[in-house]
Amino acid sequence: TSSGALGPDHGYGPDIDHVLLSEEQIQAKIGELAAQIASDYAGKEVLLVGVLKGAVLFMSDFARALQLPTQMEFMAVSSYGSATSSSGVVRILKDLDRDITDKHVLVLEDIIDSGLTLSWLLKNLGGRQPASLEVCALLRKPDAVKVEVPVKYIGFDIPNEFVVGYGLDYAERYRDLPYIATLKPEVYQ
Ligand code: 5GP
Ligand code: MG
Ligand code: MG
Repeated sequence: TSSGALGPDHGYGPDIDHVLLSEEQIQAKIGELAAQIASDYAGKEVLLVGVLKGAVLFMSDFARALQLPTQMEFMAVSSYGSATSSSGVVRILKDLDRDITDKHVLVLEDIIDSGLTLSWLLKNLGGRQPASLEVCALLRKPDAVKVEVPVKYIGFDIPNEFVVGYGLDYAERYRDLPYIATLKPEVYQ
């Protein structure tokens, strides 16, 4: 696929198999999510918690689209497991800088696959007595329905394929792509 029509590909073009979601589709969805969330949280201040590193681009665009006063915090977790599936055993690499007691916390996630990481995170954050706690995930894969994780806001349901771009990496590459795509099989070799 030539990604010329999709804007800058940062030199990754030859690795891209197909584009699942264009920059325009992503930005339009962020506008919709932001409008919904601004109306749901009218009159409140929202504390956005971005899960590093995958949610960084989403956080940056979403915070600008959301017409409410918001604060930003980041958390980094690592889930033990293989490279492609998580075990639900999570380690905090970077905790929040601040107390979230009585705050309206909205967790921003890049993608929910098994849901195990998020399930652990919600239990952890929920124990800190926030005024409210919800999740907004840009992407959700089919397996996510198997775990009961209450995710109020979802951008896109996508097929069970490994995707990169817009924050999502393969071996720390491709996060800087403005769109979401799959990689050619030879890239994994
Ligand atoms: P789970 O929901 O299985 O506990 O884990 C979700 C995490 O796995 C995501 O935050 C992301 O880091 C990683 N992940 C799951 N599916 C994909 C994918 O298709 N592409 C990339 N780059 N990471 C994924
Ligand atoms: Mg994530
Ligand atoms: Mg990753």
